[in-house]
Parts: sequence; structure tokens; C-alpha cells
Amino acid sequence: MKKDNLKQFYKEFPSNPDVRVKALKAILEKEGLIDQKALDEILDTYQNKVGPLNGAKIVAKAWANKKFKEDLINNTDQVLKDMDLNGRQGEHVVVVENTETVHNLIVCTLCSCYPWPLLGLPPSWYKSDAYRSRAVREPRAVLSDFNVKLPISKKVKVWDSTSEIRYLVLPQQPPSSKGLSENELVSWITRDSMIGTGFPKPPKGK
Ligand code: FE
Repeated sequence: MKKDNLKQFYKEFPSNPDVRVKALKAILEKEGLIDQKALDEILDTYQNKVGPLNGAKIVAKAWANKKFKEDLINNTDQVLKDMDLNGRQGEHVVVVENTETVHNLIVCTLCSCYPWPLLGLPPSWYKSDAYRSRAVREPRAVLSDFNVKLPISKKVKVWDSTSEIRYLVLPQQPPSSKGLSENELVSWITRDSMIGTGFPKPPKGK
């Protein structure tokens, strides 16, 4: 693109992120800098084939196996590498554990960094300006919007993801799920519980 055109483009760059992404995509396509087919394949992989299931499997395993949990927290990259879960956008992951005294919340204040190989693609609210700014400023209010009510005695820790470090919340296991098999536990673990904006819950119909 010519320099003058680029200047004009930035001047007219829309502020709404969704519109901004569409505008940018249209320009990159026009300039032949992205291949829609390749993009579709990447989106399909992370949207339909990965989803949050890999993260749920890891959390279930951590709940069921104390040794695995310790390894997962202390040696995350190696554990994920051994499980072949360290692909694109998941090169360096930090696992933060929710406890009786601490609740963790993940955000990317700058854009939308997210552990793709574990959780798939981020939900649209994760990318919104409102979530990105409020999660840091007023995390308890944001959590309350997600119906996550915490006692005031519980500390809320907010983790700001970057392109170098992405986070996964290891939620607390609900007491009513104790004794279930690792396979059964997987369906209790929601995407939001691994971002910190939700709790694990029994699968529908149980
Ligand atoms: Fe980001």
C-alpha cells in the first residue's frame, strides 16, 4: 500500500474493534497478504476441533492426580509439550490455581492473548474493550456480571496475558464432584472456569 494511502487508512481507522478487524482483514486480503483458505483452516481447527476440551482434560487430570497437578503447575511447558498441547499461541503457559483464599482471573489488556491449544479461540467478550479495561480496574464487579460471587475475604488476582505468557486457571474442584472418574470430571469443567469468569458445574442433565 502506498504511504499516503496508509496514512489515510490510519486516519479513518474505525475505533470499534470488530469493525477495525474487518477493515484490516479487507485490506490485507486486497493486498494479497493473507490467504482466506489458510485462515479458515486455522479458525476451523481452534473453533471446532480444539475448543476448551483440552484444557478441561488437563484440569480433570490435575484434580484426579495430585502428582500430575504439581507437575502441571511447576513444570507447565514440559508437561504440555509431553501432551502435545504446546502449539501455536500456547508456547509458554502459566497455570494459576484457585484456592480457598485466592481466585484468579485472566485478561489480556492489550489485545486478546489466550492459550489456544488449551481453550480454543477466545470468546468475543474476552476481546471486548469493556472486559479488557474493567477486569483490571474492577475485577469483582466484572466477576459479579458473570455471576461469580466471592466472599470479600477471598483475594482476586488478575493476570494480564501477553504474546509471551498465557494463563490457564486451575479451578477448585466442587466438593460434590469428589470421587468421580477423570472422564466424568471433564464435563464439569467449563471454559469460563478456566478463565476465572465461572465455576465448574455439573454437566446438563445431572
Ligand atoms: Fe493479547
